[in-house]
Amino acid sequence: MKKNQTDEKINGLNVLMFSDRLASFDFGPTHPFKPIRAKQMMELLTRYSLLQEKNQRVIDPEPIPEEFLYLFHDRAYIDLLKKAGRGDFTLDMLEAGLGTEDNPVLPGLYDFCLTSAGATHQGALMLINDEADRVFNPLGGFHHAGAAHAEGFCYVNDCAVAIMDLTRRGKRVAYIDIDVHFGNGVRDAFVNRNDVLCVSIHESGATIYPWSGFQDDIGEGEGRGYTVNIPLLQGSDDEVFLYAFESVVPPLVAAFSPDVVIAVIGADTHRDDPLGHLYLTTNGYERAVRIIRDISPKLLATGGGGYNLYKTAALWALAWASFCGLEPEDTFAGLIGGMMYGPEAQSGTLRDRPQAASGALKEQCLDHARDVVAYLKKNVFPTHGIS
Ligand SMILES: [Zn+2]
Repeated sequence: MKKNQTDEKINGLNVLMFSDRLASFDFGPTHPFKPIRAKQMMELLTRYSLLQEKNQRVIDPEPIPEEFLYLFHDRAYIDLLKKAGRGDFTLDMLEAGLGTEDNPVLPGLYDFCLTSAGATHQGALMLINDEADRVFNPLGGFHHAGAAHAEGFCYVNDCAVAIMDLTRRGKRVAYIDIDVHFGNGVRDAFVNRNDVLCVSIHESGATIYPWSGFQDDIGEGEGRGYTVNIPLLQGSDDEVFLYAFESVVPPLVAAFSPDVVIAVIGADTHRDDPLGHLYLTTNGYERAVRIIRDISPKLLATGGGGYNLYKTAALWALAWASFCGLEPEDTFAGLIGGMMYGPEAQSGTLRDRPQAASGALKEQCLDHARDVVAYLKKNVFPTHGIS
C-alpha cells in the first residue's frame, strides 16, 4: 500500500472534471463567486499527492450540447442567456434575473455555463455507463438557477439538467445538498416527483438567501415526502450539523435506494466563510462528505458555493481525497518556498483543529436541530417505510 492511502478500501474509478478555461473565468473584482478557487484546489491536489493514482482521471469537460438544457430550461430564457453571453444587455433580461449585481451580463458567460453544465452532464453519463464510480466537478452545483431565470450567482442549473436526463433514462436519483444555501432551483424542478429524492441541509432561510427551504416544505402531490429540508440555526457547529445530517440522510437514502447520487458539496458552511453563518470546521465537512461517499452507489459531486477562497480549495481537496480513499500528504513539508498560500502555509495541514461551540447558542442550535429531525421522522420517514 502506498503511504498516503488510508486503510479504507475504496474501489472504482474517480474522475475529476477540470477546465483551466472555466477556472479562469472572472465575474469581476467585486463579485464573490471566484472560479479560480478550482485552480487553487488543483495546486493543493498536486502538493498533497492526491492525483497520482491509477484509478484517477482528470477530464477537460466539453460544453453540453444545447438541446440538453431544454430538459429543464425554457427556450426564451436560454435565448436571453446567449445574448447575455455576448455581453449585450437589454432591459428584458432583468425580468429573467440577468444583469443584476448577483448575476451580471458578461462576455463569455454562455460558454462558461455550457462547459460547467457539460462537466456535470458528462460525469452523470459516465456513472450510468460504468465508466466512473465517483465524479467531482468543482465548478458545478449551480443549484439556484430556475427554469426561466438566473439567481444567486447561478444561470444554468447543471444539477437539474443532469437529473432530468438521468430520470428520463429510468434512473432513480438522490440529490444531497450540503451547501450553506438551500438548493431552491433543484427543489422547484422536482418538487412533485417521487423518482427524485431532494435533500438539502442548510442555514435556515430565516437568516440567509434564498429565504426558503423550511422543514415543512416536504414536496407536493406525488412528490410529497421526496423533498426534505434540514434548516439549521446560525452558529450551528460540526456536532449540530452532523447530528441532523446523520439522523436524516443515510436512512432516507438507503430506503429510497437510488441508482445515482448527485451532491452539491458547497464549502460555504465553513466558519470562515464570509457569506454563510454556520460554524463548521473541515472536520464536520469531511465527515459529511465521507458519509455521502459511503451511501452513494455512484456519486457525482459538484462544488457549489464557497467564498473564502483558500478554505474552499482546502475543503474540496479534502473531499477529493475522501472520494478516493487517500490521506493528504504534504510533499512540500520542510521545503522553503513553493506555492504555499493561506493559513496552511504555516500549519502544514489542510485541516482545522476540532472546535465546538458551547453555551446558550449551542443549546439553541441543538434544540432546533432536534425539532427538525423529529418533524422529518414524523412527516417524511413514513412515506419511505422507515421510522
Ligand atoms: Zn452557497
